[in-house]
Amino acid sequence: MKTGHDVDIIEVGPRDGLQNVEAFVETAQKVSLIRRLAASGLKEIQAGAFVSPRAIPQFRDMKEVMAGIIALPNVRFSTLVPNARGAREAFKSGVEKLIFFFSLSESHNLNNVHQTKDASFKGLELLQNNLAAETPAELCVALATVFGCPFEGYMTTDYILKDIEKIANMGIKEITLCDTVGFGNPRQVEEITVACLESFPEVTFAVHFHNTRGLGLANALRAYDTGIRRFDAAVGGLGGCPFAPGASGNIATEDLVFMFNEMGIPTGINLDVLLKVSTFLKEILPGIVLSSAVYHAGLPKTQTSGPECSAPEVNPPCPAHQEWS
Ligand code: ZN
Repeated sequence: MKTGHDVDIIEVGPRDGLQNVEAFVETAQKVSLIRRLAASGLKEIQAGAFVSPRAIPQFRDMKEVMAGIIALPNVRFSTLVPNARGAREAFKSGVEKLIFFFSLSESHNLNNVHQTKDASFKGLELLQNNLAAETPAELCVALATVFGCPFEGYMTTDYILKDIEKIANMGIKEITLCDTVGFGNPRQVEEITVACLESFPEVTFAVHFHNTRGLGLANALRAYDTGIRRFDAAVGGLGGCPFAPGASGNIATEDLVFMFNEMGIPTGINLDVLLKVSTFLKEILPGIVLSSAVYHAGLPKTQTSGPECSAPEVNPPCPAHQEWS
């Protein structure tokens, strides 16, 4: 029997989720949210972003948030950093893992981080060189619009590999492939992840799927089948998309954990505790509509197993499915 966890689920709700929430979430509530997430067994949490408060006012209290969580045991915190200043502040706050982000698509990069890709590559290089001298923090890259861009559409795998090669050549050891706007489909995910894993065996790849068009879990499962073992997800399915108003957000952490748990793939995460975090979200974000299917449907009271239980509508109801509807 397997022990521990076979997949790493990285909680990005406090960053990708809250950055899309207009109302300022009080520092104490952010700290409480992250502490509750850690209590569910999550081993890595993206706590926020060290960006200009003018760019994202929600993260103006990042230092205070970090002070409230940094001592938590058994969990690693990462934050997004757009530049050397952000990296220094993050490192001073105790963050061990810094994530530099930019888009594979030139026009999305201009719209999102307001600079050319060339400038982003230079910024990354500078950061990588400075960091090595100044801090022992790990620098990773989150690459947006890998699976499609709202302005430029789909990109070829060759184009994607060329940019990843540049990043890998700088000595970056972990790259997250992001489906920022939910354009990805399982077949495309397979092509891209296989190409990345085969071409850059020295790099650890993670995936970040939004469920904008309902394919988030299907994409995650296909990525798993190709060998990806690191997955971003957001509690409650937080995280909208500025280019698709009203669309659902990231894959919900509950849904991803449920899928892996039910498949016998250990995640190390307690789903009961995690579901209570979504209830807490509803308290601190009044009016929020959560897109987690498992949160709304609840957990089956009896574990499903065996092919004899495959049809929920059998009459009389199969005991394993009585609580499903
Ligand atoms: Zn995202």
